[in-house]
Amino acid sequence: MLHFIMTKPLSVFRMLAPVAALCILSLYSQVPQSDGAGVEAGVLPAHWIAGGPKCMEESEWQIHEYNADLYILRESGCTHYEKPFLYVIFGNDKATLINTGAGQNDIGRVFDQVVEKWLKRKGRESIQKMVIHTHGHSDHIAGDPQFKDRKDIEFVPFDIPSIQKAFSITSWPESVGTLDLGGRTLEVVPVPGHHSTDVAFYDKRTGLLLIGDTLYPGRLYVTYWDQFEKSIERIVRFSLKTAV
Ligand SMILES: [Zn+2]
Repeated sequence: MLHFIMTKPLSVFRMLAPVAALCILSLYSQVPQSDGAGVEAGVLPAHWIAGGPKCMEESEWQIHEYNADLYILRESGCTHYEKPFLYVIFGNDKATLINTGAGQNDIGRVFDQVVEKWLKRKGRESIQKMVIHTHGHSDHIAGDPQFKDRKDIEFVPFDIPSIQKAFSITSWPESVGTLDLGGRTLEVVPVPGHHSTDVAFYDKRTGLLLIGDTLYPGRLYVTYWDQFEKSIERIVRFSLKTAV
């Protein structure tokens, strides 16, 4: 992983403010709750595993049920210091895993386990499985080899042509694409800058905007500054347009 730390001009902070206020994500702040606007409610856990200090006692994954059709997986810091968040989102036809984690993990087994439990709960035999990414940094793709050669998985590599094809993004990075999971469509917004391949996933059903490493409450790492500024403008416009 290669990050460049850059000084952020005030203009970017001004641009970030409305995004943070509207939606950003999720893991550190309240997300939209069911208020009659058709947004499906969910809950966040009281706390996330962080990595020890007693690693023998801590699970390698925290599997959190945000609601019956959306799960947040937190990889333990005992496995890898980046302790990333991953997501499993279910539609009627597809279950998609967003990112494959960091270090030597067993995300293949965990994804299968989540899908199997969901199928049992729903009284179903099967669902198509898919693996996608927010971007290509090593702490989000380390588990890719566990999926690449599986016949039962639709695996989307993180190069831009593959991303455009999978999400029908006609013009990178200006166009917004979609991912149809069956009765549930994610909108896919290109937001390169932190990495060359960043995309944000907007789930209209829950009102969650999963934005990867592009924005979070901490030091931001920007590799392509010109692209980053345009991406922030793009995601602010998108958020204002689609806010629930
Ligand atoms: Zn990253």
